Amino acid sequence: MTTQWWRMKKISNKAREPVKAAPQRTCVACRQVKEKRGLLRIVRTPKGVVEIDARGKMDGRGAYVCPAAVCLEKGLKSTNLERTLKCPISPAERERLLKNGKELLKEISG
Ligand SMILES: [Zn+2]
Repeated sequence: MTTQWWRMKKISNKAREPVKAAPQRTCVACRQVKEKRGLLRIVRTPKGVVEIDARGKMDGRGAYVCPAAVCLEKGLKSTNLERTLKCPISPAERERLLKNGKELLKEISG
C-alpha cells in the first residue's frame, strides 16, 4: 500500500477522457468553432464551381458558416471564404450563393 492508490487513480482519470470528439470546423464569418454537422458547408467542386452543399457530402474543398443569414452574408462577402476555398468568387457568384443559401436556411428552419 505505497504507490498503488495513485496508480489506480491515474487509470480511472484516463478512462474518463472522451472516446472520440465530434469533428469541428470554424465558421468563416464569425470564427466560432462548432460541430461540423451543425454548420452549413460551401464547397468548391472539382469543376471549379462554388456551391452551397446542403448535405455536406459533395466532393471538393469546403468552407463552413453557421446556418444563420448573418453569417451566410458575412461569410460570402468576406475574403476568408476565397482564402479557404483557394479560388476567386465573382460578385455574381456571391449573389447566387447568397440566394441559394438563404433558400436553404428557410428549408432548414421549416
Ligand atoms: Zn458564424
